[in-house]
Amino acid sequence: MSKKIVLVTGASRGIGRAAANKLSKTGFNVIGTATSQKGVDQINQEGMYGLILNLNDKKSIESMWENIIDNFNCVDILINNAGITKDNIIARMSMDEWEEVINIHLNATFYMCQRATKLMMKNRFGRVINISSTSATIGNRGQGNYAAAKAGIEAFTRTLAREFGSRGITANNIAPGFIDTDMTKFLSEEERDNIQKDIPLNRFGKPEEVADLINFLASDEASYITGQTIHLNGGLYM
Ligand code: NAP
Repeated sequence: MSKKIVLVTGASRGIGRAAANKLSKTGFNVIGTATSQKGVDQINQEGMYGLILNLNDKKSIESMWENIIDNFNCVDILINNAGITKDNIIARMSMDEWEEVINIHLNATFYMCQRATKLMMKNRFGRVINISSTSATIGNRGQGNYAAAKAGIEAFTRTLAREFGSRGITANNIAPGFIDTDMTKFLSEEERDNIQKDIPLNRFGKPEEVADLINFLASDEASYITGQTIHLNGGLYM
């Protein structure tokens, strides 16, 4: 049987990189994206198929899909992982900070899912795995834009699960808590210590721990799971 094709956005760093490598090792054919040629070269060197993608630019999204259709004409599993933060308290948040985060997370997730499900429907098989965040459920000071985008993704995913279930397509969210990646590097030692006090497992998660759950949701063993948000946060939210 031919290998299933997985598209992982943001495969150059952090959770996406760990997930792309894990999926590649467990027998998937992985397409990974980065915003720069350097990132694409790294993905290629790691034995995957690298593509440029800027989710804040509709033309970039279109050209990535053209490449996928020309070279594969298939995506079995879509992992909407790429993301950014533009933190600010609501009183000071600019419209640009609000819009960029909503665009890269929520708007892009809608469009990526719409494109991918068109291909998935032909094979009557598909898996969508969206990476949301604990922020969507508990809120997080300074993350009004991010929390709103991630909560929107979670609600959108449930609708996706309902609309596409009869076509053999499942859709789920993974909501990580604090994970050790570039996204959390800006925290000071003191901030980290304070956060860790609220985490029963008393540490940040590793990108590989999120990758393991992504790999499970992509596997045959997860065939009856859909419309769910699975929390992975060391007990920060329960
Ligand atoms: P990260 O280490 O900062 O990596 C971000 C990835 O997204 C990179 O591959 C980056 O590509 C890509 N990216 C950034 N802007 C992009 C854009 N405009 N278009 C396309 N790709 C873009 O982040 P991470 O911590 O692994 O986060 C991955 C996902 O998990 C995100 O959706 C994030 O919101 C979510 N999450 C993270 C945490 C956490 O604590 N780390 C917690 C909850 C949820 P380049 O390398 O080319 O810049």
